[in-house]
Amino acid sequence: MTTVACPRCQRDVVWKPENKFRPFCSERCKLMDLGAWANEEYRIPNATPPDDDPSAPQRID
Ligand SMILES: [Zn+2]
Repeated sequence: MTTVACPRCQRDVVWKPENKFRPFCSERCKLMDLGAWANEEYRIPNATPPDDDPSAPQRID
């Protein structure tokens, strides 16, 4: 029997075809993980543009 750790709560999940939420332990964890991605919780560091971005609007005094 193969088990994996739920990516969301680290609970042991039995890896079997009947478990449609795998690798998550439940639908709740699966939806929470998808929601986290939608909210950019896993945003990659240093992905923001530099301050001297030429496309930024120019300041006019
Ligand atoms: Zn879980």
